[in-house]
Parts: sequence; structure tokens; C-alpha cells
Amino acid sequence: MTTAVLPASFDPITCGHVDIATRAARLFDRLIVAVHAHPKKNVLFPIDVRLAMVRDSLSGAENIEVVKYDGLTVDLVRKLGANVLIRGLRAVSDFESEYQQATLNHKMLPSLEVMCMFASMEYSFLSSSIVKEIAEYGGDVSWMVPEAVLVRLRERFPAAAAPVGVEK
Ligand code: ADP
Repeated sequence: MTTAVLPASFDPITCGHVDIATRAARLFDRLIVAVHAHPKKNVLFPIDVRLAMVRDSLSGAENIEVVKYDGLTVDLVRKLGANVLIRGLRAVSDFESEYQQATLNHKMLPSLEVMCMFASMEYSFLSSSIVKEIAEYGGDVSWMVPEAVLVRLRERFPAAAAPVGVEK
């Protein structure tokens, strides 16, 4: 049985993450999507909201489980008895940090294979931070995020629900 883990902060989950999760779930018996509770960066949504958004967005897939975790990703992988870590690659700019993380994770847990999957073309410019920035200024992010996220973004940024106006 091959178990893969897809870890991220998901602040919030985007259609790019959903695409990677759905494609990865077809390759493995079990995919565990792991939401990092306290990443070393400022997050907009608290862990339980991020977790709920990930759960709601991936509810259709049978072999996907969603968990939250803290601490080192390799410790979670060890605890779950997983063999593979999945990461998404958008542009060359992702490569350097993904390569660094993959090398360090492999060094800490040599039985772990890190696999990077290329982002689908339509999502290759999408990131959680760009979604938050556009939503904050009232831009349309409906094609970038699942419905469960859109609802929370509209609560958080009421301007996101209003049409974008031209300043006079
Ligand atoms: P973090 O950097 O906190 O782990 P991110 O959400 O920024 O969380 O990224 C998690 C993983 O998802 C990374 O491997 C990243 O490259 C990937 N990812 C993020 N956005 C996309 C996207 N639009 N398409 C494919 N992969 C993505």
C-alpha cells in the first residue's frame, strides 16, 4: 500500500492545490493532505478554518484524508507510515526552495521519496498569497478557489463580494 502526503499551509487552499491533490490521489492508494497548523509565516485563516476549507474542497475523493499537524513534516510522514511526499512545481522559481526542502527531508528520512508534480497550465500562476491580495481589493477570484474558500474570503473581505469600481 503506497501512502503519499501532500503538506502545505493552505492559507487558503486554491484550485491549484485541488488539482495537484486530485491528480496525486489517482497515483497512490491513499493520499493524506496535511495542513500545517503553525507555519513560520503569517497566516490569514486560523488552522480550524483552513482545515475545514481543505475538507470541504476535497470531499469528493474517496482515498483522500485531511489531517492537521505541527512540527516537522518528516515526523508526520514517519507517524503515518507514508512513503512519498508530494509537492507542486509551478515555475522555475519554485524549484530552488523545493529542491532544498526535498534534499533536507530526504536526509532526515532516507526512506522518503519526494515527488514534484508540475502545476496544470491554467493554475501555474496561482498562489494563496495572490488570491488573498486580489480578494482584499475586491477582484474576482472565483475561478481561482473552490466554493468553500470563496465564501470565507467574502466574509473576510466584504469588498470581494462587490463589483470592482473605478476610482474617480
Ligand atoms: P507552503 O509553502 O506553506 O508549504 P503553499 O500553499 O505555498 O504552502 O505550497 C504548498 C505546495 O503546493 C508547494 O509545493 C507549492 O509549490 C504547491 N502549490 C501551490 N500553489 C500551486 C498551484 N497553483 N499549482 C500547483 N502547485 C501549487
